[in-house]
Amino acid sequence: MNLILFGPPAAGKGTQAKRLVEEHGYVQLSTGDMLRAARASGSELGNRVAKIMDEGGLVSDEIVIDLIDEQLETHKNAPGFIYDGFPRTVGQAKALDKLLESRGTQVDRVIRLVVDETQLMQRVTKRFEEEGRKDDNPATFAARLDKYNQDTAPLLPFYAERGILREVDGMASIEEVTKGVEEALKQTA
Ligand code: AMP
Repeated sequence: MNLILFGPPAAGKGTQAKRLVEEHGYVQLSTGDMLRAARASGSELGNRVAKIMDEGGLVSDEIVIDLIDEQLETHKNAPGFIYDGFPRTVGQAKALDKLLESRGTQVDRVIRLVVDETQLMQRVTKRFEEEGRKDDNPATFAARLDKYNQDTAPLLPFYAERGILREVDGMASIEEVTKGVEEALKQTA
């Protein structure tokens, strides 16, 4: 299973991905988590991406594609992968297709968590207070949302054309969203 959890920042992708990991043993591939780990380790890569992340921009396609490739190699025998925060551009989506094709698999399902921008702002304000993630401050978050609308939302028709896109109401309770995601996973393409 190759499942893309799709949606703007703070839509609940990470929360749902963790539940799917517990339920199905899938491997969560969050490029945001990988980049934050690189920064925390003080690696050359971490230093290279720090400024872009703090400004709410997107790091280069090449960097995140390499990270995903590495993880697919590391977890060769995993029963499935959940892509969380990747792909974020058409270039990344095409590269993912190639990476999977070379391994004899494909993107099976794209689940979009639908949350309106007012609620996203409320969630991220709370997360900023609780976790202090620099890029959750209101100005940077607005830049991240702009990036999502400009560069990432165009992926929706890309996947819709293949008949593998499903939508789930991301404003319901965490439990309800999980139910919706599980339903969407069961449906055949
Ligand atoms: P996230 O936790 O997914 O919101 O990611 C945090 C930040 O990491 C983003 O605002 C980007 O700067 C960077 N990032 C994460 N994933 C990607 C990606 N697939 N492409 C480009 N930049 C990314």
